[in-house]
Amino acid sequence: MDFTLPGEHRMIRDSVREFCDEEIAPIAQEIEDEHRFPAEVFDQLAELDVMGVPVGEEYGGLGGDQLMYALVTEELGRVSGSIGLSYAAHVSLGSKPIELFGTEAQKERWLRPLATGETLGAWALTEPGSGSDASDMDTTAERDGDEWVIDGTKQFITNATVAGSVLVKAVTAPGEGYGGISTFVVDPDDEGFEVSTVWDKMGLNASPTCEIQLNDVRVPGDRLLGEPGDGWDQTRKTLDGGRISIAALSVGLAQGAFEAALSYAKEREQFGQPIGEFDAVRDMLVEMDRKIERARLLTHKAAVRYDEGEDVTRLSSMAKLDASEISREVAEDAVQVLGGYGYTTDFAPQRFFRDAKLMEIGEGTSEIQRLVLGRELGL
Ligand SMILES: Cc1cc2nc3c(=O)[nH]c(=O)nc-3n(C[C@H](O)[C@H](O)[C@H](O)COP(=O)(O)OP(=O)(O)OC[C@H]3O[C@@H](n4cnc5c(N)ncnc54)[C@H](O)[C@@H]3O)c2cc1C
Repeated sequence: MDFTLPGEHRMIRDSVREFCDEEIAPIAQEIEDEHRFPAEVFDQLAELDVMGVPVGEEYGGLGGDQLMYALVTEELGRVSGSIGLSYAAHVSLGSKPIELFGTEAQKERWLRPLATGETLGAWALTEPGSGSDASDMDTTAERDGDEWVIDGTKQFITNATVAGSVLVKAVTAPGEGYGGISTFVVDPDDEGFEVSTVWDKMGLNASPTCEIQLNDVRVPGDRLLGEPGDGWDQTRKTLDGGRISIAALSVGLAQGAFEAALSYAKEREQFGQPIGEFDAVRDMLVEMDRKIERARLLTHKAAVRYDEGEDVTRLSSMAKLDASEISREVAEDAVQVLGGYGYTTDFAPQRFFRDAKLMEIGEGTSEIQRLVLGRELGL
């Protein structure tokens, strides 16, 4: 067992970290306050060639692995949860399924612009009436000659206002349950596609979260991803990878909050000494460090197993559950270490705290992760 990151991985991580410190950290609070999606940052990430880290070079990606992708996602989360979330939704949810399940023609048409960063991806599973029980969806796609007609509403879709393609889940065989769901590549320019709401949220406001309407959206037959009825199986595989990226993002948020708290604790003096030298504050910092190290190890293990082609349902779910919970805990303690200043928007911990809460909800709530993990134990 070797815990040393390969040289190429360290190189990519370090160059993304440098970019994050120089270009993203200075605007991280501003884009939240303005609720502004920073398109220019994604253009720069495309120049760094990281918009398709785990996508094959033959389709314009970097040809890296899940571990490298986790490292990049962590670095983005360390400075901006919003950018990290939009990035993770673009890669694991909007792009990777096309590489895994698409035809060569679909990869050329839809995956290449995503992997090069020319367009952004989105993935639409959740609906107003179905979240945790996602297969209980109302969106339908009916065949009409060579075309499909998609009708329904999707809820909380990351990147929908800025995406060049959206992977939409719809029922194609009503009554057939999991086996009746299919995936379609929808172009936001398709007639009948409309973003009806962009939500105001408690955090992550530079990442658009949208309700979308699909009003009889007519798409050609070659927009179906895989075979009719493959949609649910694809969803499970997509989430196995996606949860690793949410775990990595959570570790990044925790790391960002921890670093802010640690440097503050060394500077701030009360009762004639740095507050970090009080046992209570030191212990909080030690606990943060311990939790982050544990969650990062689990995340990297899940990523490595994914790269080895193993079934990672248990590990990715465990990493996501652990990392999302420690992320919220660490960020909350970071606010506490900064005292009154921690409660102001002049300091980063409050932003990490608000962003971290989503990690316990998106891509399956903590309760659903426990359900998945229980099933893995045969319970
Ligand atoms: C910022 C943001 C971004 C998102 N991005 C996307 C996206 O890009 N694409 C997409 O498709 N979706 C996205 N989502 C949706 C997200 O995945 C869902 O919100 C999540 O899966 C929970 O579904 P729900 O909100 O309907 O909650 P519900 O399913 O209604 O759950 C409500 C509560 O009930 C609990 N619960 C439900 N069922 C059970 C059970 N069986 N056992 C125990 N407890 C249970 C839940 O854990 C939760 O506490 C996003 C959401 C947010 C907020």
